[in-house]
Amino acid sequence: MTTLLIKNAQLLVTMDDHRREIPGGGLCIRDGFIEQVGESVELPTSADEVLDMSGQIVLPGLINTHHHFYQTLTRAVPAAQNANLFNWLKTLYPIWARMNPDDIRISTQTALAELALSGCTTASDHLYLFPNGSKLDDEIEAASAVGIRLQASRGSMSLGQSKGGLPPDSVVDSEENILIDSERLIKKYHDPKPGAMLQIVLAPCSPFSVTGDLMKQSAKLARQYGVHLHTHLAETQDEEQFTLDTFGYRPVAYMQSLDWVGPDVWFAHSVHVKQDEIEVYAHEGCGVAHCPSSNMRLASGIAPLREYMKAGVKVGLGVDGSASNDGSHLLAEVRQAMLLARLRAGLEGASLSSTGGELLTARQALELATRGGAAVLGRKDVGSLEVGKCADLIGINLNRLDYAGALHDPVAAVVFCQPQHVDYNIVHGKVVVNQGKLVGLDLPKHIEAHNRAARRLLEG
Ligand SMILES: [Zn+2]
Repeated sequence: MTTLLIKNAQLLVTMDDHRREIPGGGLCIRDGFIEQVGESVELPTSADEVLDMSGQIVLPGLINTHHHFYQTLTRAVPAAQNANLFNWLKTLYPIWARMNPDDIRISTQTALAELALSGCTTASDHLYLFPNGSKLDDEIEAASAVGIRLQASRGSMSLGQSKGGLPPDSVVDSEENILIDSERLIKKYHDPKPGAMLQIVLAPCSPFSVTGDLMKQSAKLARQYGVHLHTHLAETQDEEQFTLDTFGYRPVAYMQSLDWVGPDVWFAHSVHVKQDEIEVYAHEGCGVAHCPSSNMRLASGIAPLREYMKAGVKVGLGVDGSASNDGSHLLAEVRQAMLLARLRAGLEGASLSSTGGELLTARQALELATRGGAAVLGRKDVGSLEVGKCADLIGINLNRLDYAGALHDPVAAVVFCQPQHVDYNIVHGKVVVNQGKLVGLDLPKHIEAHNRAARRLLEG
């Protein structure tokens, strides 16, 4: 048994059911779980390890609900800089087809390092192409060096160009292989217990890259083992046209026809939905991974975030793949979500009273990235700092240039002001970022290897 005492936070933000914010707060942690939360003076004075968080704001660790780690190798690719989704994909598929298992490992660690430094303690990833012998196992093995929780999605593509899909045939796989490998991964890695560091998700890539039959078979398999389902949906108008032309349904109705709705399903993006489709999400319990930077980058549109929240739909945030962001800074995504929701409210002519009733607040945006993300991923053990939950938390030093003049409201400062790296990131009671430095990776060496791999991919 090991104990950790976190004490003297300038402000401890719990995100519990009462949204308590505790000045001078602290936490007692035993074997990775929170045993006590309160003012530091009320907590025991000793533990195996004690961390004094004076001058820091302590928050629940952030949760990323959508990413493609491998895309860190293809950021800002010149030919894909000024393209919408379908053209961006068609430019990048042939480059991605050159990846090997080493590339998967390197890019996984790059993305996780960025996530950890920007406050993420649970990351979902969606890997959907496996060229040159790559496997999801490569990602899983590489991830442990950084030490944050991983929801590894076994993605898939089976509908190549010759069958009417968007990706070239060279990057798609047979549905038989996909299902066999999906079951193997669940059996080998999926941990359903509270505090799990690794869970498996099944994630056929999108309506335009897999068949309806693979979607159905994947759902059947996932439900047999109690794992969750994830895909891209209603991201662009091109996709909507594709599902109408090919299947005769709008994207959400197509999912309903495949039994792809329910509390075990979450969709990335869901930008182009109508009010009755929002009601379907709310009624069925489907979650949404809102990815504001990617939606802006690819000119996809503005997701109806406030409408989702009003309808009671579970919403989390995602940085999305690093070829459409082009970064994995999760705290920055919280800020983007707040700003973009405000832009949409303004465009829709919301009443902008002095109390700002229609404007997404900093606290609501942080809630999406914590409690919201946990709900979307179906995890009851993370997302807030409460007794019995995992000890996943971050600390940010408030005494910095970027927050100067904003300390009358430290919670607002971390969202409104320029996004920062965290000083501490603690996952399951283990320090992953210590005084602003990543513990598990030699970053300068790693960056060199990453740039070498990226160069090789682009040069072909
Ligand atoms: Zn994506």
